[in-house]
Order: sequence, then structure tokens, then C-alpha cells
Amino acid sequence: MSVERNSAVGEQPSVKPKKAAKGAKVKRAEPAGPAARSAEPAKRAEPVKPAAPESRLAMVRRARRTNRELAEVYPYAHPELDFRNPFELLVATVLSAQTTDLRVNQTTPALFAKYPTPEDMAAAAPEEMEELIRPTGFFRAKTKSLIGLSTALRDRFGGEVPGRLDDLVTLPGVGRKTANVVLGNAFGVPGLTVDTHFGRLVRRWRWTEQEDPEKVEAEIAEIFPRSEWTMLSHRVIFHGRRVCHSRKPACGACPIAHLCPSYGEGETDPEKARKLLKYEMGGQPGQRLNPPAGYPGRPAPARAE
Ligand code: SF4
Repeated sequence: MSVERNSAVGEQPSVKPKKAAKGAKVKRAEPAGPAARSAEPAKRAEPVKPAAPESRLAMVRRARRTNRELAEVYPYAHPELDFRNPFELLVATVLSAQTTDLRVNQTTPALFAKYPTPEDMAAAAPEEMEELIRPTGFFRAKTKSLIGLSTALRDRFGGEVPGRLDDLVTLPGVGRKTANVVLGNAFGVPGLTVDTHFGRLVRRWRWTEQEDPEKVEAEIAEIFPRSEWTMLSHRVIFHGRRVCHSRKPACGACPIAHLCPSYGEGETDPEKARKLLKYEMGGQPGQRLNPPAGYPGRPAPARAE
């Protein structure tokens, strides 16, 4: 382990990352996929010694620098749900609870072919919809939400998805996270998406100690200008899915390791860490069947492999 750290995620850092000693021999990862050059890990060669607690100003500077460096690593960061309009994004986001975006993307083409509008979905037979969305899990509850929110869109919003957070959260199955995804990506209204990846990473980075998503959102909103919120969310979630995994973060292949007080929580050997990288970083297909232009990886397969 190269960094002493507090055992509980979210504790204040008791250490400060330090550069490798001059002349120290450092193993580096080999290139791994399209983003490999910018994904080279920082040099680490010796245990980091405890330092004074980081000031708020230093943390904010480090957080903003991390965002800038993530923008260089993932210039193509984007929502990983396939959608063609706000209604499809809203439905896909509701379906994405407790499953992967890939599974949702493999499920929604048939769903939207059968129910292309809120009016169509509001009139759906529940058992038929359940069969269509079964692969996403919790299909009975999700069917109830989708029929309920479609009915609300039809009856209260003229069949259109509203572009205001206060309206979106009144829809069945729609919380702040879903509302922010829709606002940020279908309406261009800045929003922070505090999902499981975002929460885990910002706590590892000591940007916040909060566990509650709404409190995390409020604290991160204080660090960054509104104009950054949507893209920051995509970058952090991209990094969480590709490099900084929940159980085995690929620290030895992490392009922002030099900015991370939790370096060493995962695999630090560059070769072993490189094997943990996912999607385009690991040379694998992405999650979207129809990725946006500029995505350097391969599209996802239409069916589960
Ligand atoms: S992979 Fe490791 S070094 Fe990189 S952000 Fe996550 S915990 Fe920090």
C-alpha cells in the first residue's frame, strides 16, 4: 500500500499525496484503449507521509483541477442511456434503477417501438409491459411507475415532459436524480446526478463526507459553477464505471491518482490495475447501442452476450 488512509470512506484525509522520490523506479501501465495516453497513472514510489489536514480552499482547488483533468481524459463523456427525446430519456432513467445502462439500452428499442408516446404508454396493458421490461429487474414496480408517469404526462402536462424540477419530481417513480438527468441532458438545464458512482467517488476524493444524495448534491454544488454540473456528473460517473470501481478501484492505472487522497484503496500494480479497466478504457464495447459521435469505443451489442 502506498498511502496511509482512514478506513472509513468519507473521513477527513490524514495524508496528502506526494510525488515519487527523485530517481525512484516506477512501474507504469501499458496503453489500454483509446484514452490510454491520458490514462497513464501518476508516479508513485513510496508511502505517503501524514500531512496537515487539507484546507477548504485547497480542497476546492484540487476538486476543480480534478474536473479539468477528467475533461481531458473523457472529452467524450455523455449520458450512457440511448434516447431520442425527453420522454425516452425519462423512461430509460426510471428503468435504469438497480440495473446497468447497457441492460436498459438493450430493452428500450422494443419498448419504444410499442409505446412511442406518453399516451401509448398510459394505455398499456401492465402484463404486456412487464414482459418487455422484465430484463431490467423490478419490472412490476417499474411498469407501475411508467404507466403512472405517462398518465400524469398525458393528463397534467399535455403529453409533454416538463422542463422544471418541481414538476418532474411530482411524477410517479421520479426523484431528484432522475429529474436532474432529464433536465441536464434533454433540456440543457444544469444538474448534478448523484448516483452510486458519483457519491462513492466524491467521498473518496474528500470533496464531501455526506452520504445522503441530496446533501452530497448541495455540497458539490458549492464547489463548482452551475455551468459545470452536467458535464462534471458525466465525467465522474464515467470514471467510476471505468476506473474507480466500487470494490476494486484500478489505482495503478488511474489518470488522476496524483489528485486522489484515496490512492491505494484499490490495485496499485499498473499491470494488474490495467486489467480492471472497463469499456473503451479496457478495449471493450460501451453501454450505448447508439453512442454519440466522438465516442472512441465500440457500440454495445443489441442483445445481451
Ligand atoms: S482509482 Fe484509486 S487513485 Fe483513482 S480515483 Fe479511485 S481511489 Fe483514487
